[in-house]
Amino acid sequence: MDKVNILGVKVDTATIDEAVSTILGFLDEDKFHSVFTPNSEIIMAAYKDPEFCGLLNRASLLTADGIGVVYASKILKKPITERAAGYDIACKLIEKINNTEHKLFLFGGKPGVAEEAETNLLKKYPYLNIVGTRNGYFKPEDEADIVAEINASGADLLFVCLGAPKQEQWIDRHKDELNVRAAMGIGGSLDIFAERTERAPEFFCKTGLEWFYRLCKEPWRAGRMMELPKFAATVIAKGRKYQ
Ligand code: UDP
Repeated sequence: MDKVNILGVKVDTATIDEAVSTILGFLDEDKFHSVFTPNSEIIMAAYKDPEFCGLLNRASLLTADGIGVVYASKILKKPITERAAGYDIACKLIEKINNTEHKLFLFGGKPGVAEEAETNLLKKYPYLNIVGTRNGYFKPEDEADIVAEINASGADLLFVCLGAPKQEQWIDRHKDELNVRAAMGIGGSLDIFAERTERAPEFFCKTGLEWFYRLCKEPWRAGRMMELPKFAATVIAKGRKYQ
């Protein structure tokens, strides 16, 4: 898969469909793969923190979540053709593994969210093999039990929804103990499956204005969003050094 180096983070140029078929391929391999979906905020965090940058680059697949990353790839003349957000990849993967032997574990969100996500997903995909759920609030000393629970479930696909960078760090920390074939960090996706939060309407997602929709709905994110112009300025000023 082709990659574009954005401020040190080697993002795959995969579309949603390419990401889905790559992950389905991972499920057939006898080894562990991690999948992260960095947005501009995560890439800025990695730019400032070489350790986190290394952690991201250890992933088997890094897709571009967010229009900022897509624009950055265009500035760097290695254009990513579409935004491949974790939620969109997860939706298509679920469609593909429905009615197959693949086993899915949902980890993350407030207590009850993963179970509500399971109920809603099963309404839509009655033959989806969800083999376990676990909320995302725990103490460091609970982590070994969580890994054991995931392994005991026999899951081969794991959704980890703890928000960034917690989910990426959690997956990387446990990559040698987890028996799943693919672990994906997909942020607030379980909240959407559980219908606790709404995805931006398609118009906003397709036109690259999801950030604007979220800003209107969740104005407290404004601080975090100020990273976006800083990201664009840094890519323009420093991006070529990484090519
Ligand atoms: N979360 C969690 N454990 C934590 C912190 C957060 O399970 O210790 C969950 C939180 O309930 C929410 C998700 O992680 O479901 C983060 O969602 P958000 O949309 O903030 O993440 P993003 O995709 O923006 O990184």
